[in-house]
Amino acid sequence: MSNVKSHIESVKDEIQRRDPDQSEFQEAVFTVLDSLAPVLEAHPEYIKANLLSRLVEPERAIQFRVPWQDDEGQFHVNRGFRVQFNSAIGPYKGGLRLHPTVNLSVVKFLGFEQILKNSLTGLPIGGAKGGSDFDPKGKSDSEVMRFCQSFMTELQRHIGPDLDVPAGDIGVGGREIGYLFGAYKRLRGYQNGVLTGKGLTFGGSLARTEATGYGLLYYTNALVKAQGDTLTGKRIKISGSGNVATYAVQKATELGAKVITVSDSNGYIYDPKGIDYKVVQQIKEVERGRIKEYADRVASAEYHGGSVWDFDVDYDIALPCATQNEINKDQAKLIVKDGVKYICEGANMPSYPDAIAVYQDSNILYGPAKAANAGGVAVSALEMSQNSERLSWSFETVDNRLQDIMEDIFEKSEAADKKYQLDKNYQAGANIAGFEKVATAMMAQGLI
Ligand code: NDP
Repeated sequence: MSNVKSHIESVKDEIQRRDPDQSEFQEAVFTVLDSLAPVLEAHPEYIKANLLSRLVEPERAIQFRVPWQDDEGQFHVNRGFRVQFNSAIGPYKGGLRLHPTVNLSVVKFLGFEQILKNSLTGLPIGGAKGGSDFDPKGKSDSEVMRFCQSFMTELQRHIGPDLDVPAGDIGVGGREIGYLFGAYKRLRGYQNGVLTGKGLTFGGSLARTEATGYGLLYYTNALVKAQGDTLTGKRIKISGSGNVATYAVQKATELGAKVITVSDSNGYIYDPKGIDYKVVQQIKEVERGRIKEYADRVASAEYHGGSVWDFDVDYDIALPCATQNEINKDQAKLIVKDGVKYICEGANMPSYPDAIAVYQDSNILYGPAKAANAGGVAVSALEMSQNSERLSWSFETVDNRLQDIMEDIFEKSEAADKKYQLDKNYQAGANIAGFEKVATAMMAQGLI
């Protein structure tokens, strides 16, 4: 085994020894480490400085109790997390997730991915992530508010506009950010740069709601164009029906493609005439309903139970926008069989490693999450800039910046792919491009 390979294996062994039960964290880190081999060949000083071992260890991982009371007066306790992973290139930045599956492994995988994603945006932000195993589904507004207030009672000690700036993720949208912001303000005073994804009346940025979905399509468009192809007329399968999926449907349709599916954790909608994002938005954002209701409102649509990735239909582009590990190896084989040419990830780590191996053994071009879904955090960073300036930019200004950032991310990933002769491996290209900036910053700052 080469020196580089054995070094990478020793870093993996150490993670396995220390955190044997953190399967999501291991999955995210091992995929990145494997793709960094060519960079370590070119930079033996990174091995000498034990840079990888430092990169995979969070600067800080905070876990706390979140007690709250439901509308019937019952007491509950959830677990809260904030993992401040890496501040080499800027203050910690990353979302908060509220979902029953949240645990330290999930938060660490998301925080680790966030380091390289944030680096790829070209903006000065470090990597973090947080959340709780609280399930907002079926809870009243008052229950969600009380939970958010209790969560912030502890989190406020650890965050700040120049220290750590949380945002939304699964289960955390405008409503939750509003409650969290209100709670922070009562405890620490008005500092509007402390959270992003805020309402437009109190320091939020135009286009933040749309940013991840739009950004995904700007990235996909850049990837497709680089192959001399176009989005016009392409049939697209999207999973999920939350924030990312909704605005991915809107932008894909605007760019001339036809989205034929959306889903939730119970089932999926198939509409061969093309999904109407306004109906999804009404059901999910306004009424907080289930995607099943789409079929009651649109005559050409059918609802089916189960995973959208088991649905056998010919199409051109897959955009998973729901959650981690939603596509397994067999489902990846179906994606290949159904004639898909491109897969770009709106969700974080939606494909198992053996599913990615299936894409890479086929002719599918694969745009990984940390590049393709960086639009949300990019516009969050633009929200921070607007808060610092005490100004609000127009929708067009933010949207144009977002488009430039997403095209730049594709170009950086492609340049790294070419530099290391990886043969259109945009996953490795994104990992390398994101890593190089963080590595340079860490080396310059001494033993951190
Ligand atoms: P939302 O909470 O708005 O929506 C999540 C969607 O995914 C819902 O349709 C939900 O269905 C579905 N989903 C969640 N868990 C599962 C599951 N286990 N199986 C099947 N479907 C599931 O979240 P977002 O749209 O904000 O986030 C979606 C993904 O995008 C996540 O991976 C997130 O980390 C990533 N992301 C989000 C960003 C953002 O700006 N919001 C930025 C970058 C990445 P159900 O209602 O049934 O749970």
